[in-house]
Amino acid sequence: MKIAIIGAGIAGLTTAKMLREVAEVTVYEKSRGAGGRVCTRYTDLFDFDHGAQFFTVKAPQFKEFLNPLIQSDIVKSWNAKFVEIKKNKIINQRQWNDDFPHYVGAPSMSEIGRFLAQDLDVKLNTEVQIRKKEDQWHIIDTDDVNHGSFDWVISTAPSLQSAALLSDEFKFHNILIERNMIECFSLMLGFENKLDLAWEAALISDADISWISVNSSKPDRKKDFTLLIHSTNLWAKNNFNTKKDTVIEQLLDATSGVTGKAIYNAKHIDVHRWKFANIKKQIIKPPFIDQSNRIAACGDWCIKGRIESAFLSGFDLANEMRNLFK
Ligand SMILES: Cc1cc2nc3c(=O)[nH]c(=O)nc-3n(C[C@H](O)[C@H](O)[C@H](O)COP(=O)(O)OP(=O)(O)OC[C@H]3O[C@@H](n4cnc5c(N)ncnc54)[C@H](O)[C@@H]3O)c2cc1C
Repeated sequence: MKIAIIGAGIAGLTTAKMLREVAEVTVYEKSRGAGGRVCTRYTDLFDFDHGAQFFTVKAPQFKEFLNPLIQSDIVKSWNAKFVEIKKNKIINQRQWNDDFPHYVGAPSMSEIGRFLAQDLDVKLNTEVQIRKKEDQWHIIDTDDVNHGSFDWVISTAPSLQSAALLSDEFKFHNILIERNMIECFSLMLGFENKLDLAWEAALISDADISWISVNSSKPDRKKDFTLLIHSTNLWAKNNFNTKKDTVIEQLLDATSGVTGKAIYNAKHIDVHRWKFANIKKQIIKPPFIDQSNRIAACGDWCIKGRIESAFLSGFDLANEMRNLFK
């Protein structure tokens, strides 16, 4: 049995790890690293986790899956001073601690994908589509190179990208189209001098930004002071095609308003635009397995825009498929 998995995010890597016990599995990933939206932007002086910020663990199966990463110090607890800010005032605060860990990758979020991919057959820098020939699925990259034939294809790309990849042959195509993922901007600021903030993680309401991390306060980061700011999803939707300079200017204004600090002189300023950042909690749950076409799909969009949901979507799908192959 040969299975091609499209996407080396958390869902794809989880699925691959679980299915390689029963099949020959190859993962195709268009980016140059594994991890998907659990990622880090590296620059000469500063690093930024510009996708997922941290994650929590509720499901016992996720806890078990993470154990090797925790034991290898790839995943560590971020014991941040956390605040909620409304109308530029702190309305709530608490110290995160090991009683309910807020986990991050160490020394960066992208270490998680790197660790999970290390014993898998992952083809990086390979954007693919699928083509059917003599009842087998062929994986074709953007240079029209054929990567061979497979019995099954599993797409773990965001819902609309999966819809385009799998076409309407897939039994759950309508579900893919209806899963509306939302936009976000990540503003990255690196400073020569530390800013004097009373917190390390802030959830913000009543502003155009929704989140600020003192990225450099996460475990094992470079010393230089960094902030990672997320716009609200609504602001990102309304400004998705706005010029990059204008986006930066307006997000700097919003950040300055919330922090009350001089951030315009940051040494490094950049922004990343996410088309498919997040998705709200879903009612119709997976797994989405089309046995007659031998196509399946999973990803956070099956459940909710969270790392744990991405894991669970892959875990449930792989378990279901393992039962099919018995
Ligand atoms: C800005 C932002 C902030 C977030 N904050 C948090 C947070 O604090 N906590 C939390 O739990 N979650 C957070 N999330 C959500 C979390 O990152 C996701 O839920 C999770 O990473 C999704 O994993 P996935 O495997 O389902 O999808 P992805 O990580 O999107 O993986 C899909 C992969 O498929 C690849 N791909 C797509 N098309 C192709 C193709 N044709 N060929 C080859 N490869 C392809 C993509 O490159 C990608 O690597 C955040 C996300 C964003 C963007």
